[in-house]
Amino acid sequence: MQLFRADLHVHSCLSPCAELDMTPSRLLRRAQERGLHMVAIADHNSAENLPAAQKVARQLGISLIPALEITTREEVHVLALFETLSAAERLQERIYASLPLDTQGAEHQVLVNEHEEVLGFCPRALLSATQMGLKEAVAEVHRLGGLAVASHAEREGFGVLGVLGFLPPDVPFDALEVLSPSVAQELSSQGHVCLQGSDAHHLRDIGTRCSLLRLRGPTFRELALALRRAQGRAVLR
Ligand SMILES: [Zn+2]
Ligand SMILES: [Zn+2]
Repeated sequence: MQLFRADLHVHSCLSPCAELDMTPSRLLRRAQERGLHMVAIADHNSAENLPAAQKVARQLGISLIPALEITTREEVHVLALFETLSAAERLQERIYASLPLDTQGAEHQVLVNEHEEVLGFCPRALLSATQMGLKEAVAEVHRLGGLAVASHAEREGFGVLGVLGFLPPDVPFDALEVLSPSVAQELSSQGHVCLQGSDAHHLRDIGTRCSLLRLRGPTFRELALALRRAQGRAVLR
């Protein structure tokens, strides 16, 4: 077993709230410079920059976890982490079926290739809530073989604890992304697995918060074992 540093919550320039220089190429290079082994790129309600990210990640030898950040009907954010790009794309298809078009904001939702060339702009209202409720969203992620993590769980805006005031007992999150060490300690003592992610929207923020994982290798399957605390794999912080 080895220790791996993972930032499982980074946005690309496809997210309208992220900086334009957050191209998959630039952000993965920055992640590598910062000593990260594993990065999940999770744009709001979209997976369209993941093909470019996957190509860059392969070139750099960094492990990319294909991901999306879902906004549920309750306005709670859920990180959906997948083993394959196609699983992430299947979730995107489901989300897009009910996400309104918004061509006005499209110029802030940039689609790029692995060479940082602009391919176009996503004409969907990516910051809108989807039609999926929290329970349904987590079930859908699991149906597609993914892991569902409550984003910035204690944050007032879009965090499950901040929005609902409690963790719904019938929503089986695989982990909670927690910002404050004291909240993480409390939730861990209640048996929850807590992760740290940067939620980076700027290059400077990548890896400023990250998780330390004990795994055999930096892969999705190993991560899934760590979240279940199985076979010696673990989230150390
Ligand atoms: Zn979020
Ligand atoms: Zn985010």
